[in-house]
Amino acid sequence: MPVEPDSPEHGPSTAAVHAGEPRRRAHDAITPAIVHSATYPFEDTAALIDFQEGRVEREEYGRYGNPTIRAAEAKLAALESPQGEAAALLCPSGMSAITTTILAMVPSGGHIILTDDCYRRTRQFVQTLLARLGVEHTVVPAGDYAALAGAVRPGQTRLIISESPTNPYLRVADLPQVVAIARQHRVKTLIDATFATPYNLRPLDHGIDLVVHSCTKYMGGHNDLLAGVVIGKPGIVGALRQAQGILGGICDPHSAYLLIRGVKTFALRMERHNSSGMAVARFLESHPRVARVHYPGLPSHPDHAVAVAQMRGFGGVVSFEIEGGLDDTARFIDRLRIPYIAPSLGGVESLVEQPALMSFYELTSEQRMAVGMRDNLVRLSCGIEDIDDLIADLKQAL
Ligand SMILES: *Cc1c(COP(=O)(O)O)cnc(C)c1O
Repeated sequence: MPVEPDSPEHGPSTAAVHAGEPRRRAHDAITPAIVHSATYPFEDTAALIDFQEGRVEREEYGRYGNPTIRAAEAKLAALESPQGEAAALLCPSGMSAITTTILAMVPSGGHIILTDDCYRRTRQFVQTLLARLGVEHTVVPAGDYAALAGAVRPGQTRLIISESPTNPYLRVADLPQVVAIARQHRVKTLIDATFATPYNLRPLDHGIDLVVHSCTKYMGGHNDLLAGVVIGKPGIVGALRQAQGILGGICDPHSAYLLIRGVKTFALRMERHNSSGMAVARFLESHPRVARVHYPGLPSHPDHAVAVAQMRGFGGVVSFEIEGGLDDTARFIDRLRIPYIAPSLGGVESLVEQPALMSFYELTSEQRMAVGMRDNLVRLSCGIEDIDDLIADLKQAL
């Protein structure tokens, strides 16, 4: 029996396995079908007219919908909003979800506010391509709600964008404060909750309008697909779907299937990511070769109280600063045996990176400092390996 997505008594693991599964199972299979079809033929002209008049619901053309993608969307929407009030739009990457959403929602001459500790490509999109289209923006420091309120331009500001937790300092937005400021000026809110996932944080429950995830990370969870999703009220998501049909960024059905498969174990994986992240953060904070640890589960984190109030757990990403400079930090990373040196996060394999040499390589030390990217910063994404092995590896490398 498929579990009703609107049954609030079901926990996140039950929902991850059962929610959004199609009622009518193709070929009686337990798994959703991977439908590789570019177009969906009509039996005759009468069938076409029935579809055009909205008398039957069916697929038409691959850019406007696909059954495998719809199954993934239903599951992701149910996880984000167990009351069944949300709709989801699947996109071919997290960036596609972000750019489609912003392009659809902000007119030329409009204004966007975003927080400074922010995924680099989101910031670049706003600062370069959107600026060219006449969209203005203000960057405010994460956690400064007076600056956020002060940045709103009544009538011109359309969207407040924040991540929670942010990358890489894991700042946690006080969502009720963000919502209060936005509602006062009828501004829409968008939270990129990739680092939290719906297991740890459900921004829609706090009154946020739209949530974005890079499903490439925890939701897929196996470092084997790229996808993104935007979730919110059906009316707004319907408008975003229209925009996607025009912009043309569509997830492929095979990735949508891999995502459905990955999501089934998502709550189970998140339990491990949460407990390993916490254990690694505590270990690092107690180590003399580590100057500073950024993890919202630690009382030393500036947003610890907000995080405890809003989140179930704090995820598998731990950012920390090594005692020393660029080269000492690189030496530490090279001594690690378990984590791969790679961008990305949230998969079963632990990944480690030095942001100064990965995402911010082409900048000078001074430019990196200006965007808050210290040379000795390490971002570790704890996978699902045994925690004793991860800590032993960190210990020997330090
Ligand atoms: C990775 C990531 C993105 C971009 O997602 P892609 O799937 O790589 O396009 C956006 N936001 C955050 C916070 C991310 O970590």
